[in-house]
Order: sequence, then C-alpha cells, then structure tokens
Amino acid sequence: MAHPIFTPEHEELRRSIRAYVEKELRPHADEWEAAKDFPDSVFRRMGELGFLGLHFAVDDGGSGGDYLTMLVLAEEMARCGSGGVSMAISVQCEYVTPPIAKFGTAEQKARWLRPAIEGRRIGALGITEPGAGSDVAGITTRAERDGDGYVVNGAKTFITNGCRADFLLLVAKTDATQRHAGISLFLVDTDTPGFAVTRRLDKVGMWPSDTAELAFTDMRIPAENLLGEEGKGFHHVMWELQGERLSAAAGACAGAQITVDATAEFVKGRRAFGQRIADFQAVRHHLAECQTAIDAARALTYETAWRVQLGEYPVQAITEAKLLATRTHFQVADTCLQLHGGMGYMMEMPVQRAWRDSRLARIGAGADEVMLDAIAKSMGL
Ligand SMILES: Cc1cc2nc3c(=O)[nH]c(=O)nc-3n(C[C@H](O)[C@H](O)[C@H](O)COP(=O)(O)OP(=O)(O)OC[C@H]3O[C@@H](n4cnc5c(N)ncnc54)[C@H](O)[C@@H]3O)c2cc1C
Repeated sequence: MAHPIFTPEHEELRRSIRAYVEKELRPHADEWEAAKDFPDSVFRRMGELGFLGLHFAVDDGGSGGDYLTMLVLAEEMARCGSGGVSMAISVQCEYVTPPIAKFGTAEQKARWLRPAIEGRRIGALGITEPGAGSDVAGITTRAERDGDGYVVNGAKTFITNGCRADFLLLVAKTDATQRHAGISLFLVDTDTPGFAVTRRLDKVGMWPSDTAELAFTDMRIPAENLLGEEGKGFHHVMWELQGERLSAAAGACAGAQITVDATAEFVKGRRAFGQRIADFQAVRHHLAECQTAIDAARALTYETAWRVQLGEYPVQAITEAKLLATRTHFQVADTCLQLHGGMGYMMEMPVQRAWRDSRLARIGAGADEVMLDAIAKSMGL
C-alpha cells in the first residue's frame, strides 16, 4: 500500500518513472559502470519525459508538481542500478536548477533553467575547493567587480558533472574580507574563456558520474550572470541544500531497501552447514535489524517531507533525516555484503556497488560530523 503522504498522482508518476528506469537505465548500468561514464543523451531523454522539472513552475518549463514529486524521483532512480547515474541526475535537478528557479531573473531562467529542465544543457554546482569543503565560508575563489562584470580567479574540486557541464552554478567570494557575507552565486557557461577542466578524478564509487577539478583564470563574466543578491550566496545555496538533503535521504532508504531485498533472496538460496544460511538466527537477525533501521529512517524522512510539503522549513529534521538515512544505507550495504560472503566481494555482485556508492553520502552534501554539529546547534548547544 502506498504511504499516506503520496496521492494517486504521485503513484502514477512513480509508475512512469519506474517504467523508464527499468527499460532505459537499468539494462545499461553494468556497461556504464565498466565505462565509468554514461551518455549525455540520458539527460535529454529525461528532459523530454519531464523528469528533470517535476516541481518547477509550468511557466519555467516544469511540470508544476509539488515537493513530494522529487522524493518519488529520488526513490525510483535508486532502482537504476548505478548510484553514479542517480547522482548526476540529482545534481542537475536538485542542486543546480532550484536556485535558478527561486532567485533567477526571467532572462536567467530562459537561458539556464529551461534548457536544463529540457535536458539540453547540463549543469554542475561548484562550491568545494581544494582548501575548503565543509567550511563553505572558507572558499577563496574570487569574483572581483571590474567595470560591467566580474573577473574570476580560483579553483574548485570534486565537482559532479564538471567535465560534461555546459554551465556551472559557481559559488565565489565577492568580498574576501567577509566569510558568509562575502559569498555570491554566478551562472557561468563553460565555454567562457578562462574556464578549464584541469582533471577528471578517479573515485571509489559512483563511477559513471564524472568528478572534476576546475580552474578559473581571469575568467570574465558579465554582471547579469550574478544569481540572486551579491553577498547572499551562502544563504541561497544553503536553502537549496536542504531540499537536496531530504531527497538524498529518500534515495538512501530506497537504495537500502533494494539491497536488503536482494540479500534476503541470496540467503534463502545459499547453503552452509547443511542448511540455508537464512535459517541461521544470526543471519535472520542481521536482516531484521537492517529492515528496522530502514523503516525508521524512511518514517523520519517521510514525516519531514510532509512538513516541507505543508510549507515548513524544518532544518533540524531534514538534517537528522539525511544523517540517519545515509548512515543506514551504508550500514545496510555493509551488513548485506557480509551476508554474501566471498561473493559479496566480487565485482559481479550488485552489493559491492551499493557498498562503494553508499559510502559517499556520509561525506558529500555535508559530512556526518557537520550534520551532527548542525543538529546540536538547533538543540541550542
Ligand atoms: C564524489 C564526490 C562528489 C562531489 N560533488 C560535489 C559537487 O558537485 N559540488 C561541490 O561543490 N562539492 C562536491 N563534493 C564535495 C563534498 O561536498 C565535500 O567533499 C564535503 O562537503 C566535505 O568537504 P571536504 O572533502 O573538503 O572535507 P573537509 O571539510 O576537509 O572535512 C574532512 C573531514 O573532517 C571532519 N570535519 C569537517 N568539519 C567538521 C566539523 N565541523 N566537526 C567535526 N568534524 C568535521 C569530517 O570527518 C570530514 O569528513 C563532492 C565530493 C565527492 C567525494
């Protein structure tokens, strides 16, 4: 039975995303993992189907759906068999485009939002730098006012979609004497002179998504590329991260469920000491613990999403959901890999990919410790 936060329209949307994922993504997952890449045409196809603009206004090229449509997308993308593909898509429709929809001018929306929703232009979000990740206010990339524009110098690292991006939502300092209050956002086309992809990084998991190091050398951008207010970039980007964290939580629960379900089937088929390993109480209890943890994380995620849907902005609950769900995902993947024995360590088994891919979410979009600090702060500590 569908959870009560979802309407029949959400379930209809779920069915159509699932049909697409099972027909057009899942069959290619192994090939794309092996290639450590996937085609840009996935963005175009998902744009054609309307999946990149579910919750954006119809006037902006979106489908006019509510916040929960993003949860449905995150949950169904977890079925595509590759965390890297899901991550690349979520960067496009949850990291890069929401700030343009909320803070962009009509011209900016026409130039960057609509083509991104249609999947014709791919975006990346550039916050992290070699010298500053968790401490966003510590970034040193400078955008200095010069006549009718800005001149940007600096570097970014770990940027998802950075190699394939047509444009970048760039987070830079317009006032180097300030921390949070010195940060502004810019929309930057990647064919701008002075922009360079300096390295494609090799990583533990999320293989098909590209992760780039970027450099900006005397990169001149016009003043109309400033997104939102100068000096308000930190608040703009933190607002956007909340929505992303909650759908990451939903995706983590969905991914953990897929891994538990597959492992339950595996332990029923595998025999040791004359019996199914599913008949060992230790094995059954491990899976029961996993299911309990997933159900708890999902319940918190759904309750929090419902509050967002009703217009609240529950930062503490979103942070708790992100922390709990992504930790649960990795713990579940680790337990399930263990229950596969040696087969769990073989590249041919999906569980190893779940284990590698799920590790990232405890670091990216706010490390566990940063989430815990934020929760403690909300508690008045
Ligand atoms: C595959 C991948 C994709 C990514 N995609 C993007 C992207 O598209 N765009 C983008 O801008 N960034 C991206 N990132 C960057 C990601 O958001 C950062 O890695 C993350 O925010 C952590 O920053 P850091 O790596 O600099 O770690 P640091 O900030 O150096 O922290 C290292 C560790 O120190 C500890 N720590 C840090 N702060 C605290 C604290 N306050 N209290 C206690 N302990 C603390 C934590 O254990 C943390 O993991 C990506 C990263 C990866 C690995």
